[in-house]
Amino acid sequence: MYALALENQKELVDAIRKAALLNAVQHDGKAQAGPIVGKILGERAELRPKAKEVTALINTVLGEVNGLTVEAQRQIVEEKWPETLKKQKVEEEKRLPPLPNASKYEKIVTRFSPNPDCVLHLGSARAIVLSHEYAKLYKGKFILRFEDTDPKVKRPSLMFYDKIREDLKWLDCEPDEEYIQSDRLPVYYEYAEKLLSGGYAYVCTCVPDEFRKLTLESKPCPCRSLPPEEHLERWQRMLNGGYTEGQAVVRVKTDLGHPNPAVRDWPALRIIDTVKYPHPRVGSKYRVWPLYNMAAGLDDHLLGITHIIRGKEHLTNGVRQEFMYRHLGWEYPEAIHYGRLKITGAFLSKSKIIQGVKDGSYSGFDDPRLATFAALRRRGITTEAIKKMIVDVGPKTADVTLSWETLYSYNRKLLDLVTNRYFFVADPVRLDVVSVPKVFHAELPLHPDHDDRGKRKYTVAPKDEDGLVSVLIAKQDAESLEAGVMVRLMELFNIKVTGKADCGLQAVFVSEPYQDARDAKARLIQWILAKENVPCKVVMPDASLTEGVAESACKKLKADAVVQFERFGFVRVDSTVPELTVYYAHK
Ligand SMILES: [Zn+2]
Repeated sequence: MYALALENQKELVDAIRKAALLNAVQHDGKAQAGPIVGKILGERAELRPKAKEVTALINTVLGEVNGLTVEAQRQIVEEKWPETLKKQKVEEEKRLPPLPNASKYEKIVTRFSPNPDCVLHLGSARAIVLSHEYAKLYKGKFILRFEDTDPKVKRPSLMFYDKIREDLKWLDCEPDEEYIQSDRLPVYYEYAEKLLSGGYAYVCTCVPDEFRKLTLESKPCPCRSLPPEEHLERWQRMLNGGYTEGQAVVRVKTDLGHPNPAVRDWPALRIIDTVKYPHPRVGSKYRVWPLYNMAAGLDDHLLGITHIIRGKEHLTNGVRQEFMYRHLGWEYPEAIHYGRLKITGAFLSKSKIIQGVKDGSYSGFDDPRLATFAALRRRGITTEAIKKMIVDVGPKTADVTLSWETLYSYNRKLLDLVTNRYFFVADPVRLDVVSVPKVFHAELPLHPDHDDRGKRKYTVAPKDEDGLVSVLIAKQDAESLEAGVMVRLMELFNIKVTGKADCGLQAVFVSEPYQDARDAKARLIQWILAKENVPCKVVMPDASLTEGVAESACKKLKADAVVQFERFGFVRVDSTVPELTVYYAHK
């Protein structure tokens, strides 16, 4: 069968078959020839002169392997080389593309650097999750850096430092180190002086409009060519109050002919009247504050960041900062710029979130209408779902648009495996069933795949000689039930509606077997014993309230539990006193 005359042919065929099977289970049952040829010839230099024959042999074996079903391939691999499947699983989880030039660095260091002027929301998820995941992947370091150097316009607020720390903790992205830029002003001053005395920066006292005009024409302002001594003197005046806000700014020299005017001699430090706008942490201690590119640019180097993972809106900032790096003789870190991640319908404007919370149009930063992590947490959206979604999107540069439904489907997959099931009926309507012939014992599994979790058990006993059983069903179900139509009360029995009245519905017992309901294509609806239930309020994603009753097993639920209300949706228990209140996640 095999034409190749080789020694140890059997051993070679076995090796090829193993490689082919492993490759096949990774490629939906169809092994690819290329990697197998590469592997076999790579491991066996002596075969390379016979590459043509070896390739023919590989193709023959490949034909056999690819002729098997995926299940058969997998079974062979599981039996013979179970360890390879485990390895494959681990690799599947590490699906992020490798970092550029990772081997150049002894330790990979990434950072997430929020301004503590608001809580975090889904818009930050990509920066956080990717930076943290990469640090973890390379056994590196993940740094949290608070960028709080604008006490006036993007004013930080004390409570947000802690809220951001909490959010990262919840996301399971806790930093290895934390820095706060408002602690580091002396560092920025030191480098400002270095740049000024080296002639790489200057204190510009021009009226902003005039400076802009000159810059657009690629012309230097009169300050630019003054000697460093003059600038150091002006710098002292900035520090000691000789200038007021807006009168002087330190600019880093770039290329005045740079095609992008926004890059030309960018502002690095400015004066802020901190008597009028005290910083929440350091008050009026400093009046000269670094701007974004100065502080972030210096810190990325000084804190040893090897890979900056950020949105592509920062591309120009990178260009600006590279000038400063050159002045200081530093090498710019690797920068990965990902595209915009738009989430349709998610509300991400920081200023509007803060305004809405302040004026009471939102109940708080965890109002269910918001896309803040606090709100997602409250609704039972899991960190795993957020992370998985972000990792799947990865750091690609193309813009990506996701919807709430995308996030929900990630979350649903995870929750479906673990959440217990319960009955809840919204806007309950009474349903009286007559002619129930005996006492029924309804046994409802907490989870269809986990018998060990046990069952919710209800005794359904007819009350009088009419065999009357009263249950509550959801208004929506009640409205759609027509007289004469059979329905099944889930895991209980089949009934037929006989009439509707103001106070509820009447029905008559039909039969017990589930098969009858199947044959009649009867609808299955959830029910709750009229005399055994728990009032329950559901806070919906639009902040409206749905009221109803849950089955009495829900009395045992504890705050923070996430459960599935069957045919209604996944909910997170928010509180149990004074009454059961849950937040709705999604269908
Ligand atoms: Zn000037």
